[in-house]
Amino acid sequence: MHDENSRELYDRALSVMPGGVNSSVRAIRPYPFFIERGDGAHVIDADGNRLIDYVMGYGPLLYGHDLPEPVRAAIQSHASDGPMYGAPTEVEVELAEFVCRHVPSVEMIRFVNSGTEATVSAVRLARGHTGREKIVVMQGGYHGAQESTLVEGESGSVHPSSPGIPESFAEHTIPVPFNDREAIERVFEERGEEIAAVLTEPMLGNTGIVHPVEGYLERLRDLTAEHGSLLVFDEVITGFRVGGLGCAQGKFGVTPDVTTFGKIVGGGFPVGAIGGRMEVIEEFTPSGDVFQSGTFSGHPVTMAAGLESLRYAAENGVYEHVNGLGERLRSGLRELCEERAPGYTVAGTDSMFKVIFTRGAASQDASCEAGCRQDPDCARFERCPKTGADVDRAGTDRWERLFWSAMREEGVFLTANQFESQFVSYAHTEEDVEETLAAYEAAL
Ligand code: PLP
Repeated sequence: MHDENSRELYDRALSVMPGGVNSSVRAIRPYPFFIERGDGAHVIDADGNRLIDYVMGYGPLLYGHDLPEPVRAAIQSHASDGPMYGAPTEVEVELAEFVCRHVPSVEMIRFVNSGTEATVSAVRLARGHTGREKIVVMQGGYHGAQESTLVEGESGSVHPSSPGIPESFAEHTIPVPFNDREAIERVFEERGEEIAAVLTEPMLGNTGIVHPVEGYLERLRDLTAEHGSLLVFDEVITGFRVGGLGCAQGKFGVTPDVTTFGKIVGGGFPVGAIGGRMEVIEEFTPSGDVFQSGTFSGHPVTMAAGLESLRYAAENGVYEHVNGLGERLRSGLRELCEERAPGYTVAGTDSMFKVIFTRGAASQDASCEAGCRQDPDCARFERCPKTGADVDRAGTDRWERLFWSAMREEGVFLTANQFESQFVSYAHTEEDVEETLAAYEAAL
C-alpha cells in the first residue's frame, strides 16, 4: 500500500498543528493516512487507496459517505440561503419536535455544537437543579474533553487525567466501575445526599464495547430517584444508533432524567444536545438560571442535516439494514474467533461491533453470542469484559500495532485502537461484510 502523499501531508501538518492533527485519536502511528474523499461505505486516501470504512467519522455517519437525496438537498438549500443568523429558525423547532416525539424521556431539548458541550452543560444543569456538586461517572466511560469527567483513580483518590485541570475539579467527581452494583450502592450509601447526578453511557462505547449486565441500569435509575439525584445518559454515540429512533434507553427500557446527544443527531455536522424532563431542561437560561449559550447552537445547516437524516431513517428501513449487517458481521466474527482466537470476545449490538482481544484461558466450546450480551447463562460470562478496566487488560498493543495495520493492508479501515467502537452504515452491503470477514480471517 503506497503512502507517500499521506506521509508528506503529515510532515507538513506536524509543523503547524500539535501532533499533526485536530483531534488526538486521529494521530495513528507511525502517521495517519489522509482522506481525500468518501464513496458510499468506502474512503479513498491521498494515495488512492480504497478502504471499507467502519470508523464512519467515529459514529455520526449513519448513511456512510453518500447522503440520501433529501438530506443532501436540505443541506445545500440551507447552506445557500446563508449559513446562519443568530436568530431562531423553523428547522431547529422541527428537529426538536422530532426528537421529543421519538424519545419519550425528552420533553424539551437544547441544541449545542458538540458532544463535549452537551455533557459540560448537562453536568452544570444537574448541579444547578440539585444544588449539589458531586458527579458519579464510570471508569472507562468517556464524555468528551471536559474538566469534570477527565479523571482517573478510584473513589477516595481521584485526580485529573490531564495537566491543566485543577485538582478541585476531580474532588467533585466519583468514578465507579461500570456494571458493579455494590460499588454504586456503597457510593450512594456514603454520599447520596451530595450527588447531583450519575452520568453514564448506557453501554460503554469508547472502552469496549461493554454491554450493561442485566439490572444494572435499572439499579442506577432506582438509586438516583431514591436520593434525589439525576440520572444522565450520555447517548452521544448510542443516540439514534442503538435502539433506532428510541435510542439505547428505549432498547434497555430505562428512562433517564436527562440525555446528552451528539453525532447522528447532526447528520454529520458538528452537534450536541441536552434533552430531558421539561422542568429540568427549563432551568437553562433564559427560562431558568443555569447559564447556557452558543453562537453556533442550532445551526440551520446542522439542524437540516439532522432532521432529514432522522426523517429518512423513520421512513426507509435504515435500522433494519444496518442492524442486520451488524448481526451478520458479529456472528461471522464469532465463528472466526471460535476457530482462530477462542479467547477473544465479539462485542456490540445493532450497528456497533468490536472484537476485544480478551486474555486468559478459553476453551473451544465456550462461545458467546453474536455480540456479548452479558448473559449469565453463557459459558464465558465470568470472563467477558464488564468494566473499562477489563478491556484495558486485553491485548491492546497487539490490537493497535499488529492487527489494525494488517486490517488496513486487507483494505479495511477500523478505529485505530482496541477501545473505540466501530460502526456499520446504510451504505455498507452484504458484499462489504463478506469482504470484511475475509479480511479478519487473514489478519486474526
Ligand atoms: N460522549 C460520548 C459518549 C462520546 O463518545 C463522545 C465522543 O466520542 C463525547 C461525549 C464527546 O463528543 P464530541 O467529540 O462531539 O465533543
